[in-house]
Amino acid sequence: MLVPVRRALRRPSRPAIAMPSSSPTTDHTLPPGTVLTLQQRRLQQILWAVLATFGTAALTSFSKNDYASVALELAAVALLCLAYRWNQQGALARASQLMLGTLTAGIFALMATGAGLYDEGTLAFPAILLFAGMFGNRRMLLVLMAWQQGALVLMFVLHQAGVIRAVEAPVDLQRLVMMVTIMAAIGFFVWLLTGDLQRTLAQLASEKEALAQSLERIDVLAHRDTLTQLPNRTLAKDRLEQLLLQARRDQCMVAALYLDLDNFKTVNDSLGHAAGDELLCLVAERLGSGLRECGTVARLSGDEFLILLGGIHTEEAVAASAARVLQLLAQPFRLQGLDVVVTTSLGIAVAPRDGSDVDELLKNADLAMYRAKDSGRNAFRFFDASMNENVVEHLHMASGLRTALARGELQVHYQPQFDLHSGRIIGAEALVRWKHPTLGFMPPSKFIPVAERTGLINEVGAWVLNRSCLDAKAWRLRGLGELTVAVNVSPLQFHRDNIEHEVANALAACQLPASALELELTESLLVADAHHLSEVLQRLRTLGVQIAIDDFGTGYSNLAYLQRFAVHRLKIDQSFVRRMGSSTHDEGIVRAIIEMAHCLGLQVVAEGVEDAAMLRKLQGFGCEFGQGFHWSPALPADGFCAFVQRHQGTAGLTG
Ligand code: C2E
Ligand code: MG
Ligand code: MG
Repeated sequence: MLVPVRRALRRPSRPAIAMPSSSPTTDHTLPPGTVLTLQQRRLQQILWAVLATFGTAALTSFSKNDYASVALELAAVALLCLAYRWNQQGALARASQLMLGTLTAGIFALMATGAGLYDEGTLAFPAILLFAGMFGNRRMLLVLMAWQQGALVLMFVLHQAGVIRAVEAPVDLQRLVMMVTIMAAIGFFVWLLTGDLQRTLAQLASEKEALAQSLERIDVLAHRDTLTQLPNRTLAKDRLEQLLLQARRDQCMVAALYLDLDNFKTVNDSLGHAAGDELLCLVAERLGSGLRECGTVARLSGDEFLILLGGIHTEEAVAASAARVLQLLAQPFRLQGLDVVVTTSLGIAVAPRDGSDVDELLKNADLAMYRAKDSGRNAFRFFDASMNENVVEHLHMASGLRTALARGELQVHYQPQFDLHSGRIIGAEALVRWKHPTLGFMPPSKFIPVAERTGLINEVGAWVLNRSCLDAKAWRLRGLGELTVAVNVSPLQFHRDNIEHEVANALAACQLPASALELELTESLLVADAHHLSEVLQRLRTLGVQIAIDDFGTGYSNLAYLQRFAVHRLKIDQSFVRRMGSSTHDEGIVRAIIEMAHCLGLQVVAEGVEDAAMLRKLQGFGCEFGQGFHWSPALPADGFCAFVQRHQGTAGLTG
C-alpha cells in the first residue's frame, strides 16, 4: 500500500509541495530556506507529536518521582530534537532513522525500567513499524521488527528471571494520560497517512480519467479527419479491410468509390481557403446524411473522398449509388452568400473483380476517377484493366511533352472564323497540335489534360500565345487584312498571376494590336465570383484584348457574371450546334443562348458548323459568327494563309 503512495508523493505535479527527487534513504542536505517536501513536513509533524508524547511521559515520570525514567525520556527528547534539526536541513533519511531508533530504544528502556511486558510503551511498537514503513526502507522495517520481537522476548526472559516483577501496574491517572498520549500520537499519524492516501487516490482517479480522455482524443486524431470529422484514410482502409473479409465470407462484392470535386481549386482560389473548408464540410455533411444507411464515407485528402459500399450483389446497385452521389452533390452549395455549383468525378473499383486487397482496390478506384475526369468530369467510371495501360501511356506522354517544345514538335493550326452575314473571314481560332515522332499528329484532347495535370500547360500555353501572335502579325504583313486570332487559355494559366504580363509581352514582341487577340476561357472558370479573375479580366479588357467563353452551355456558369467578367463573346458548344438538325430541343437551346447573349450585349460564335443547313438556321437566329468543317478544319499557318487568299479571291460564303 505504501509503495504507490510514496511514488505518488514523489510526483512533480504538485508544485506547492516540493517532492524529493531521490530515494528517501538518500540524504541531501537542502540549502536553508528551501521549501519543505511533503515527507519532511510529515516527519516534522510526527516529530512534534512524538516529542509531545515523550514530554508528557517525562512529566508523568517526574510526578511519580521516577527520575531514571525522566532522564531516559529527556535523553530521547534530546535525540528527537536532533532528528528534528536534521529533518529541517533536508537530511530526511538520517532524521527518520534517528527518530525510529530513538523511539524503539526509548520504549525498550522504559519497558525494562518500568512494567516490562505490561508497560504501556508496547502500544507504540506498531506505530513505530508504520513510521518505518513510510519513512524508512524495507530493510529498516525488518531490522526494527526483529529488534521489537527481540525486546519482547528479552522482557519475557527478564520477567521469568524475576528481574522485572510481574506486578500489575496500578491503573492511575498518569497511566491513563500516558495511554491517551500514545494513542493520540498514533491516531495523529494514521490521520496524516490516510489523508495522504485519500488525496493520492483522488489524484490517481483524476489522472486516470484524463488519460482515458487523451486516449480518446488520440484515437480521434489518428482515425478522423480534423476538418470534417469523417473517418480518415487510416480508418477508411481499416473499414475496407473488414468489408473485404466479410465479403469473402458472404460471397458478395465491395465497391470503393473514389470521389474528387472537379472545381474545388477554383472555389479555393477565388473565395478563399475558409470557403474551401466550408465547402468540404458541406460536402461531407451531404454525403454523410445521404449515404448513412448504405456505406462509409471518408475523407482521404484535400477534395478527395472515399465511399465504401459493402454487401453488394450487382454492379447496377453500385452504379445507382454513384448516380445518387452525383445527384446529391449537384445541388448548389451556399457559400458566402453565393450559390456555388461543384461537379464531381467518381472512380469505382469493385472487389473481387478489380482487386482483392485494400491498396489495389484504392489504386484502381483512383485510376478510374482520373478516367472520369478526362472524359469530361461530372461523371462516374468503373475501373477496367485498360486503365492501367493508360496510366503508362500518360507517363510516356508527360515525359514526351516535356521535350516536345524544345524539339519543335508542337505546332499551331488555325481554323477560320466567319462573319455569318457578310461571309468574310474575321480571323481564326488557334488550335495546338503535337506532331509526335512515333505516334504522328496527336489531338489536343489527348495531351492537353496531361499538360494540365503535370503543370506543363503553362509553358505550352505561353508558347501557343506567342506563336499565334507572331502568325497573326504575319497575316497582317502579308496583306490578309485585320484578322483576329483566338487563343484557348487553360483555367490553370489564369490561376497564375502573370497571365496579363504574358499577354502584354506577346503582343509587344510582335507589335500586334491588342484588339487582334481574343482569349477563349472555359465556362468552369466562372463557377464562382472570383474576385481575382474579375480583376485580371478587367485588366486584360483595358489592354484591349477580347474575351470569349468557350463551349458555352456545357458547364454551370453563373449568367450574372458574364457581364461582370468583361466578356465579349459566347461560343456555343458544338454539341448543341451539331444536334440542332435532329433535335428541336437542341435547336431551342441554341436559339435561347443567342437571344440571351444579345440581351446581355454579347456576340455569339457557333462552333462545329458542318453544313449549309446549320449555317442557314444560325443565320436565321441572328448568330454573328461561325467556324466549322463546313468551311474548313484547322489548317497549318501556311495553309491558313492560302485559304484566306483563296477565299478573299472568291469573296463570298462558300457552301
Ligand atoms: P475548342 O476550343 O472547343 O476547339 C474546337 C474543337 O472543335 C477543335 O478540336 C476543332 O478542330 C473542332 N472542330 C472545329 N470545327 C468542327 C466541326 O465542324 N465539327 C467537329 N466535329 N469538330 C470541329 P481540337 O483542335 O481537337 O481541340 C479540342 C480542344 O482542345 C479545344 O476545344 C480546346 O479546348 C483544346 N485546345 C486546343 N488547342 C488548345 C490550346 O492551345 N490551349 C488550350 N488550353 N487548349 C487547347
Ligand atoms: Mg476553343
Ligand atoms: Mg469550343
